[in-house]
Amino acid sequence: MLDLDVRTLFIVSISVTTVLGFLLLFTWYQNRQIRSLGWWSASHFVMCAGAGLLGARGYIPDVLSIDIANALLLLSCGLAWGGARLFDERSVPVSGVLAGPILWMLASQLPLLSESINARIMFSSAIISVYTIGTGCEVWRGRVQEPLMSRWPLSVTFFVHGAVYALRIWLVFAFPVAVGGTFYSVAWFSIIGLESLLFLIIASFMILAMAKERSELVHKTNAMLDPLTNIPNRRAFLDVAMRRMRQRSRNPEPVTALLFDLDHFKSVNDRFGHAVGDEVLRIFTAKAAAEFRSTDIMGRLGGEEFGALLFGAGEGTAVGTADRIRRALMIATAEIDGKHVDATVSVGVAVLGTDSNEDVAELLSRADNALYLAKERGRNRVEVAGKLPPVVVPPVEEAQAAVAAIAAFRVVSPGLAPQLPAANEDDITWAEPQQLRASGN
Ligand code: GH3
Ligand code: MG
Ligand code: MG
Repeated sequence: MLDLDVRTLFIVSISVTTVLGFLLLFTWYQNRQIRSLGWWSASHFVMCAGAGLLGARGYIPDVLSIDIANALLLLSCGLAWGGARLFDERSVPVSGVLAGPILWMLASQLPLLSESINARIMFSSAIISVYTIGTGCEVWRGRVQEPLMSRWPLSVTFFVHGAVYALRIWLVFAFPVAVGGTFYSVAWFSIIGLESLLFLIIASFMILAMAKERSELVHKTNAMLDPLTNIPNRRAFLDVAMRRMRQRSRNPEPVTALLFDLDHFKSVNDRFGHAVGDEVLRIFTAKAAAEFRSTDIMGRLGGEEFGALLFGAGEGTAVGTADRIRRALMIATAEIDGKHVDATVSVGVAVLGTDSNEDVAELLSRADNALYLAKERGRNRVEVAGKLPPVVVPPVEEAQAAVAAIAAFRVVSPGLAPQLPAANEDDITWAEPQQLRASGN
């Protein structure tokens, strides 16, 4: 067996655990929002107290070195488990934290435990094992909402340590402590002690790594998200757009770019105040997000301009989506806090076929041209880039004169008279906000 002095190991373990406890406390002080660091630090200090009392066996009353010492060690495991739950904003039931130590205090009064060190080791090992594996499960569970790399090694560390403590139950069966002896007299105890020390060092550093990883992720996310609307900002949108376009080059599919610009938004701010303007931007984002599929991407390009890329969507789908968003915005802003805001949006659409390898900048630039056209043609409408040049609409008098001439011609020569074009159902038509409000669609 390894020739390790158990007393020396105790002193080393307590010293190292104290240092690690202070390290966690310091990190918690720097990252107050990660409250679990405080719990884990407390768990270390409670463990030091428990281990100190346990190591003083023979020098202090048994009630302190056995009953209280073990209760403190189990409380430290309970605190570590609570810390892991708190890390992912789960509630920490006090009953769960105290269940182990209370169970121990009650059971240790029974003759079965009070008279046998082997039974005591088995009982406390079982509780420690359950708490430790439970802590590993809590760390592991959070990976779905927050996939931090450090969760993997940390939960494995807890699982391994929990398994070692389960093994300790078997060791007591195989190599029991002699009657009247203490754990100082069993050779395997030093091995387990060494494992516990290594576990504490590894777990503490993995906890620090996990907390650091979270802080970095939060900073990175904040730098990528627009704080008002909570969607990707211009840089993040363009980053993702370019990445997705590179993927597309391996697996060609149609892509459609949509550029949105809220109409006369300066006037919305001037008439109703900046707060209402902000609310309109939030409403627009929510209405647009509700229309996009999970594979589409959307971002706030700046001020009152938004962009979206619809993957696998052709012109029909994209124009339909853009128009539903346009209508939804009108309906949702028809009245905000009792004010008829009636915000509208113009949309430019550019379609990229499977045979084209235009880049993001070129695609967005075409969508921008279409957006410009939508503004020019009266706003609150959807225009598609790359269509026939805009039809020059004759002034009203000229149009009326043309209609009158055709009508007169029809009287004289019905067979030859040109037909007035029938209204195209698919045309995106302009509707007054009041009209929409009245019709309720
Ligand atoms: P157009 O129809 O031609 O797009 O006119 P517009 O008034 O929307 O365009 P312009 O570029 O002149 O004005 C954009 C306005 O958007 C000016 C700015 O005050 C407002 N704006 C930009 N960002 C925000 C924001 O975060 N909140 C609010 N409330 N307003 C913003
Ligand atoms: Mg603008
Ligand atoms: Mg605008």
